[in-house]
Amino acid sequence: MQGLLCYCRAGFEPELAAELTERAAEAGHAGYARTERNSGHALFLCEEADALSEALPFADLIFARQKLQLIAELRGLDPKDRITPMLEALGMFCGSDASRDPSARTSSEGTSRLASLPQKNTFGTLVVEHPDSDEAKPLAGLARSFGNALRPALRKAGLLSAQDNDRLPRLHVCFVDGDHAFLATSDPRDSAPWSMGVPRLKMHADAPSRSALKLEEAILTLLTADERATLLREGMRAADLGAAPGGWTWVLTRHKLQVTAIDNGPLRPHVMDTGLVQHLRADGFAWHPTKPLDWMVCDMVEQPSRVAGRMAEWFREGWCRHAIFNLKLPMKKRWQETRLCLDRFAAQAGKPLTIRAKQLYHDREEITVFATPAGR
Ligand code: SAM
Repeated sequence: MQGLLCYCRAGFEPELAAELTERAAEAGHAGYARTERNSGHALFLCEEADALSEALPFADLIFARQKLQLIAELRGLDPKDRITPMLEALGMFCGSDASRDPSARTSSEGTSRLASLPQKNTFGTLVVEHPDSDEAKPLAGLARSFGNALRPALRKAGLLSAQDNDRLPRLHVCFVDGDHAFLATSDPRDSAPWSMGVPRLKMHADAPSRSALKLEEAILTLLTADERATLLREGMRAADLGAAPGGWTWVLTRHKLQVTAIDNGPLRPHVMDTGLVQHLRADGFAWHPTKPLDWMVCDMVEQPSRVAGRMAEWFREGWCRHAIFNLKLPMKKRWQETRLCLDRFAAQAGKPLTIRAKQLYHDREEITVFATPAGR
């Protein structure tokens, strides 16, 4: 079985499946999605997983928290020995003794898929996890203890490097039940670095709202390290549309930006105490700056098409250079709405933009979008 295994927020499997299906078809790959409601994951089964994975970079996927390439699905695992069938499946995937004898690969089924993998220590890291669903949560203990047992067995079989190595593919064991697991692999350059695809961010005691975590995660996930260093600098100016009680504004002030916070509601006093914030009680759909700003962020709860249209106007009019905004998706057909809104935003922005969108871990019924001038 070849294909992709992706994780998502529980309840958003239809959106993830629709996204994978549509994007695979656009890239010329036949296949089909397999998923269950509230399972927190979806499979896309196809003939050429390598090529499909290349055609669908993780950074471009909106509803996927993680993107893995499937090695095997193991059902009916014996709780007394789950390791042996896993080593067997990995042996078939890598070609028997392929880790030591390159010629063994040419006759193996897994040759094409592993052609780019190194001969020894095929995997650099082991991640044992489960989808982020109510049903799978009780598997957290098993995942932890099983990882400790599997790791030495993989090393003994020459499949896992002695030290964690980020330059080699990761091996993932994803338990969906005590006797049912997927084996999969990820490319560290084309996947989320966190177990389950979930960044562990701590809520700061001073943060005015949990929404602060959303912007923190967006900055961490949607911007590259270079963009974080160059695009968020002391003295830059930003607007925050729909700012109250001040979580996003507070995050921007921690990067030492000066913020005009737009909301009819009040901001927490300690946000104002930074001396970096001007609060205006105004309509976020009508207000705009008189001089161009570096940033605009927007978390207004409104129809996504209306928000997308207004965000495009900001870029068209040159009111900001970069933006992070949320599109709330409370309706059915959320994948179609997402596509529609992002297409509309890109088409109306009046200039070529790099646009990255994700349903973040801290997003509920919404996605977060980062936009910046293309080819900066
Ligand atoms: N990002 C904020 C934070 O981190 O604390 C939370 C924002 S909350 C989800 C949405 C805010 O949008 C509300 O405070 C609401 O008053 C504001 N809002 C909704 N429509 C607005 C509008 N047309 N103009 C200005 N603010 C608006």
